[in-house]
Amino acid sequence: MADGGDGHDRAGHGASIELENLSKRYPGSAEAAVDGVNMSIRAGETVVLVGPSGCGKSTTLKMINRLIEPTGGRIRIDGEDVTGINPVRLRREVGYAIQSSGLFPHMTVAQNIGLVPRMLGWSRARTGERVEEMLHLVGLDPGEFRGRYPRRLSGGQQQRVGVARALAADPPVLLMDEPFGAVDPITRERLQDELLRLQRELRKTIVFVTHDFDEAVKLGDRIAVLRERSHIAQFDTPEAILTGPADGFVSGFVGAGAALKRLNLTQVRDIRLGACPTVAEDAPRHEILDRLRDSGAREVLLLDAHRRPVGWLREGDLARSPVRRTVRADATLRDALEAVLADRAGRVPVTGPDGAYAGVVDVGTLMDSAHALLADRT
Ligand code: ADP
Repeated sequence: MADGGDGHDRAGHGASIELENLSKRYPGSAEAAVDGVNMSIRAGETVVLVGPSGCGKSTTLKMINRLIEPTGGRIRIDGEDVTGINPVRLRREVGYAIQSSGLFPHMTVAQNIGLVPRMLGWSRARTGERVEEMLHLVGLDPGEFRGRYPRRLSGGQQQRVGVARALAADPPVLLMDEPFGAVDPITRERLQDELLRLQRELRKTIVFVTHDFDEAVKLGDRIAVLRERSHIAQFDTPEAILTGPADGFVSGFVGAGAALKRLNLTQVRDIRLGACPTVAEDAPRHEILDRLRDSGAREVLLLDAHRRPVGWLREGDLARSPVRRTVRADATLRDALEAVLADRAGRVPVTGPDGAYAGVVDVGTLMDSAHALLADRT
């Protein structure tokens, strides 16, 4: 890898990665943890390594930046053999994001993000600018977050900072080891969406490890399904793997998530929504209570002047409770299911493009549509 002082020679868009017969045998182990992987990853693509726990995903990934030293084979980045170069230099040019973010707790957000640029000898001013830019990129307000310590961030915010840190020196390659494994499902979906958005802009070469096939389908340009010792069972696009799994091992992976993947492919607007009584939030209280009583329902949804859902008033409650969650009509059924499961009352208002009330979803509505979808399958 060319040494240009500030490590910017390969910066910007992605670099190709070649794994040639790459192997790892841990000291004292009779069997190789990774046994002769051959893989060509194109510049700018996202490749997801997926497979059961212990199959060697993480070991394979960590050999790419030589956090784990291979015991056999070669790694080439943009054609250059990096198997023997100084690993510290290699790691500065390969971004790395892991589960639970891996942030240094005694450093502020800005110090964490600026770490690699500073090590590369960037000036304080340039690093500072880069930190701001990275915080914007991952959707965090620099004024609010720059000086915070990691313990004062939510799991999702920590993960965003972890991604910002991995991208700070503008590396061509980004390695991600189950980066969203430790956050709640809703945050996880959001982080996945953000990664997709970032990647459309940045076109890095991303190698991403997960054991979640749905995550692989969502994020991967190509997916490598690995069996034990990182033997490649199939390496292809998500569509090709879903429609033509190579063998029983692969179809085991695909089949297990089939119902959920159907939910991913259907939008809330395509199903029959539930209804609940609604009333203008500024209506006189007696009118609201009449509406509640006349409807025979246990709660009424309060709408603002633009018909956006703002509160619930439950039978017997004096005060209204705010609407905490809504799902958009263009959300997937999977998103809706997650919102419903996360809602204490188990039902969530659906909103149209302008944010106006369009109906409600609850477990019953979703179950009915999921059953209908699955019954359609031949
Ligand atoms: P995965 O990421 O797919 O869960 P890993 O790459 O972590 O799998 O592990 C692959 C195999 O190597 C497993 O059998 C694991 O027990 C073994 N292994 C991982 N790390 C070490 C280590 N430091 N020492 C010895 N064996 C290890």
